[in-house]
Amino acid sequence: MNPTENSKNAYIEASKYFPGGVNSPVRAFKNVGGNPLFIDHGKGSHIFDIDGNEYVDYVLSWGPLILGHADDEVVKELKGAVEKGTSYGAPTTLETDLAKMITSIVPSIEMMRMVSSGTEATMSAIRLARGFTNREKILKFVGNYHGHSDSLLVDAGSGVATFDINTSPGVPKDLAYDTYTVAYNDIDAVKELFDNHGDEIACAIVEPIAGNMGVIPGTQAFLDTLRSETTKHGSLLIFDEVMSGFRAAFHGAQSLYNITPDLTTLGKVVGGGLPVGVFGGRKDIMSEITPAGKIYHAGTLSGNPLAMTGGISTLKQLNDDLYAQMIGKVDTLTEGIKKVADQNNVPITVHHVGTMWSYFFNAGPVNNFADVQKSDQKFFAKFFNELIKQGIYTAPSEFETNFMTSKHTDGDIQKTITAFDVAMKKLRN
Ligand code: PLP
Repeated sequence: MNPTENSKNAYIEASKYFPGGVNSPVRAFKNVGGNPLFIDHGKGSHIFDIDGNEYVDYVLSWGPLILGHADDEVVKELKGAVEKGTSYGAPTTLETDLAKMITSIVPSIEMMRMVSSGTEATMSAIRLARGFTNREKILKFVGNYHGHSDSLLVDAGSGVATFDINTSPGVPKDLAYDTYTVAYNDIDAVKELFDNHGDEIACAIVEPIAGNMGVIPGTQAFLDTLRSETTKHGSLLIFDEVMSGFRAAFHGAQSLYNITPDLTTLGKVVGGGLPVGVFGGRKDIMSEITPAGKIYHAGTLSGNPLAMTGGISTLKQLNDDLYAQMIGKVDTLTEGIKKVADQNNVPITVHHVGTMWSYFFNAGPVNNFADVQKSDQKFFAKFFNELIKQGIYTAPSEFETNFMTSKHTDGDIQKTITAFDVAMKKLRN
């Protein structure tokens, strides 16, 4: 590996202009030490930093790149789209084309709105739920992350958890007060909250497969309880599938649990690496959005033609066979990791659902945020850096998820298992 001198200098320069040197906190590697790697380009399953180092990438822009970097077809279609203009602020048929694909893949989304990020999708879905039910309280789960809008930055996962911030300074007390939080997978706590406050709760928002405290699947009983309690009390159920959509399964986590939420939010893969978010669901609820209804939502770049093209060219390449192949690769990788951890006597819990996977230095079980916090985070930081030295780029926090693409090769996967083995041997001795 070349020294990462260029990245170091680029970071010093960037730090003059951006707080912490980055435009999104977990990119800074603050939790694992060292400076972030500045990326020059990516192709397939690999990224290349500005010092000329090559890495097998499992971060994949934090999920969107299910076809890997610079997929030939996506690049070709984007080039064609950019020639025609980058934005009109008027409707295009591309928006309807992408909407039809989304509805056919996730049928609970009968009607939708395109936005430019997952944060906008969840923020807008919450406003819609509040407006539709005429209630103000919401329920979220500790360690679930739904983007950085005020109501949702309470007991959140991802960077909020990595940097140990419960509720961000700047979130008005009243908004935090309107957000009930309960431990993930805690059925009794959900029932108790709805028994006591059900008629005040506009919605429950949940990551059905949590991916922002590592991967932690919701249990069937937990999600069934959420469905029945929200229905019983006239609250809406929002599945935040910004991460799990097209990742946990082709048809989303909701297809794995056979649960129909009232609203779903999507992001990441749905834009194929361009800025797209979606919120949608029951037609009677979505019809309350302006200008059909009175609940306000808008966006200068919503449904942007380049972003729509990124989504269309990605989604049209997805199918059940491709998922079977990607899931097979995740199985091989995670089995390999467990095996080398056993051989090296390293306590580990490895979770994976569909194309999402993560590992905790923790003997387990890991079912909620409190369990994740018991993991050996110091060991994780050292381990992460050992992987980097061996050309393996994984999420720089235990409160994040790794992903798989259609482009990862058997060679990539074997190299990764070997790197885990070498790093464990080095750090255990
Ligand atoms: N919801 C979930 C489940 C996410 O994982 C994320 C981002 O990681 C978001 C919402 C926010 O999406 P964005 O970062 O595009 O605003």
